[in-house]
Amino acid sequence: MIRTEALTKIYGTGEGSVNALNHADIQIESGELTAIIGRSGSGKSTLLNLLGCLDTATSGRIFYDDTEITSLNDTGAADFRLNHIGFVFQFFDLLPELTAAENILLPARLAGKTPENYQSIVEALGIADRIDHYPSQLSGGQQQRAAIARALINDPDVILCDEPTGNLDEKSGEEVMEMLLKMNREQGKTILIVTHDPEIAAKCHRIIEIRDGEVKI
Ligand code: ADP
Ligand code: MG
Repeated sequence: MIRTEALTKIYGTGEGSVNALNHADIQIESGELTAIIGRSGSGKSTLLNLLGCLDTATSGRIFYDDTEITSLNDTGAADFRLNHIGFVFQFFDLLPELTAAENILLPARLAGKTPENYQSIVEALGIADRIDHYPSQLSGGQQQRAAIARALINDPDVILCDEPTGNLDEKSGEEVMEMLLKMNREQGKTILIVTHDPEIAAKCHRIIEIRDGEVKI
């Protein structure tokens, strides 16, 4: 279970400061598939980055079960992220100088883990014959599937996706969504998907809407 208490993020100080997330209280059960929707600039990425230990809150708390991740130091937060959370970004964020295989295996290397599930993951994502290619040699859909494989390599319980189909053509976007739905259905992964797309939101169990930093459940 993921729970936030009065989670708040203010960027900057003084007159130019932006209250991107304002006392958000949300609760997400294990195995849930949740869409996070809202206009551009409403605070969706801010929420996801805080949940994913990619940024620190101004105030408020985040719990993963009994672990309060907002109380962890930088190293603790990085370790927690590496072992418990997979992140999928709109622009894939693969390292260009590494092959797909090296990108996918990087989180396992960083965590000092032997990835037993590597072959089954790349096969399930349909990129087994592309893993020696560099990102620039892959289509957008293949890059995003490699990014999903990277998110899965340490077998996280939670996958956070920030507009995962936002930079893909319709068909590749549908394929990527199918894969995320399947991971939720078959492996019980807890998945949060930030999206603008009502069709994607409709496929989720639950929708959380954010308006100007305020969560509307
Ligand atoms: P969304 O993902 O819903 O489009 P964001 O969470 O990226 O929205 O942004 C929420 C608000 O915070 C916006 O007003 C945005 O301009 C502002 N913001 C986001 N990141 C930063 C930052 N690093 N510095 C200053 N303001 C930011
Ligand atoms: Mg965003």
